[in-house]
Amino acid sequence: MGVRESDKFATKAIHAGAHVDVHGSVIEPISLSTTFRQSAPAQPIGTYEYSRSQNPNRENLEVAIASLENGKYGLAFSSGSATTAVILQSLPQGSHAISIGDVYGGTHRYFTKVANAHGVETSFTNDLLNDLPKLVKENTKLVWIESPTNPTLKITDIEAVSQKVKSLNKDILLVVDNTFLSPYLSNPLNFGADIVVHSATKYINGHSDVVLGVLATNNKDIYERLQFLQNAIGAIPSPFDAWLTHRGLRTLHLRVRQASLSAQKIAEFLQNNENVEAVNYPGLPTHKDYDVVKKQHREALGGGMISFRIKGGAEAAAKFSSSTRLFALAESLGGVESLLEVPAVMTHGGIPKEAREASGVYDNLVRLSVGIEDGDDLLEDVKQALEKSAAK
Ligand SMILES: *Cc1c(COP(=O)(O)O)cnc(C)c1O
Repeated sequence: MGVRESDKFATKAIHAGAHVDVHGSVIEPISLSTTFRQSAPAQPIGTYEYSRSQNPNRENLEVAIASLENGKYGLAFSSGSATTAVILQSLPQGSHAISIGDVYGGTHRYFTKVANAHGVETSFTNDLLNDLPKLVKENTKLVWIESPTNPTLKITDIEAVSQKVKSLNKDILLVVDNTFLSPYLSNPLNFGADIVVHSATKYINGHSDVVLGVLATNNKDIYERLQFLQNAIGAIPSPFDAWLTHRGLRTLHLRVRQASLSAQKIAEFLQNNENVEAVNYPGLPTHKDYDVVKKQHREALGGGMISFRIKGGAEAAAKFSSSTRLFALAESLGGVESLLEVPAVMTHGGIPKEAREASGVYDNLVRLSVGIEDGDDLLEDVKQALEKSAAK
């Protein structure tokens, strides 16, 4: 039972956090009990006392996440947003943070509308690597990266940022939101991140039926502080959600590989199509940061997310998104089923046009989350929808 550090990803995905019980159940039971018996006052029979503090299903998931991210410690929360909130809540009052500019909308909202209430101020930049030295202040405590970004799929060289942060010798935490790639494609802790976070709602659970967040770290002090806050704040996942996420995670490698391979084919098709103005996809050698992709992603795989600008403006984007047969028009990503959306009027609709366009989110941008249906069927679907919708 259990995994070795030398085991490969797929072995860890299946066996890490494996449960052992008196019945020899191959699959762990769902442990709904909120409280656990003690043999004498303050002497729990096992390791559990109360389910907010720790629960067998959550613990098994946390062990699995740590293993897949090459971290020593893992923690699970009630959502990706709760994970972000707990990390930002751990900063001392009056801290300063630096974040990439086109960070996930909910993270941006937390930085600017919630964390600021306890005096945490954030600087945003679209060129983190170069701007870092001039943005750092006396009270800078955290640097936040998302790579690739949403929806324009810009890549950040995590190792280069980490080296710069460490050279400042200032005890600044480097956090990477790895939601878009999943631990199968990249492990930010290997490149010097202190904490890696995920909305497990996306690829890790992978079946669009759980909202949950996780983080992993190698630093015991960080882990203990965040575990304390996990219990103190109580934004924890239910045992059933932890169990479902752990089940989803066991096929992560198969799902993400297949989604990437299909996305690669679709991106190559779009890149050569006369009805498409531009394609953002990290797996294309023409991507601006393909050198970083080769270093940072498993086998230079580009992941399951693509965005592209269709000819014919907002009208063509709207037509395209209602002309697909298999890609469903919906927000979110990372599930087994393919989805698409128009960020300018959906996920990024709240951002003023000028700021939106400055980060590449034009009215004619379409975002695809490529699922694991047959790749040729998906390509065919994109082809027929383009023919119906693009302005010639
Ligand atoms: C969805 C998402 C989040 C937020 O996660 P929830 O589980 O929806 O709270 C954070 N970061 C990224 C990149 C996301 O895609």
